[in-house]
Amino acid sequence: MIEILVKYNYNMEKHRLIAGKKQGAGFKQLFLRSSFIQKLSIRTVSRVDFRDITAMVEQAVSSSGIRNGACYIFIPHTTAAVTINESADPDVVTDIATHLDTLVPQSRGFRHSEGNSPAHIKASLLGNSEVLLFENGKLVLGTWQGIFLCEFDGPRTRSVLIKIMPEAFAGPESSNKA
Ligand code: ZN
Repeated sequence: MIEILVKYNYNMEKHRLIAGKKQGAGFKQLFLRSSFIQKLSIRTVSRVDFRDITAMVEQAVSSSGIRNGACYIFIPHTTAAVTINESADPDVVTDIATHLDTLVPQSRGFRHSEGNSPAHIKASLLGNSEVLLFENGKLVLGTWQGIFLCEFDGPRTRSVLIKIMPEAFAGPESSNKA
């Protein structure tokens, strides 16, 4: 089965504690809550494997406590990628994976001695970052859209880094003006 761990690079409770002691400085609380990078650890189960991570990204957004903003997703690997595509029908990502195999065949002669050049090429074709918007704590996605970690050289444990950015600097100065 797929092992899914949600980890945090920094101690979130410690940050909340620090923020809580500075109640008067609302902007500092907002800054601290948005300043850490969240990390998902995703176990892939085959050489090529597309894992739907939408629910986990939504969890990362809601746990940040930030209502509106942008969510940056970054894959810190050279043979894995992230893409947004249809999640309603699993055949769609199967077709994408199959046709990427046709586009970049495993048997071609490549210079890279590790033997996984097709995985490197596919990762570059799909890219290793996405930016999503969220409103009222929910991701803004099309009806059929899902977010996929794309494994091209598995099975492995892969990291997905998520940075949640608030839409505006909602400090005391700006709230006074409102
Ligand atoms: Zn390589």
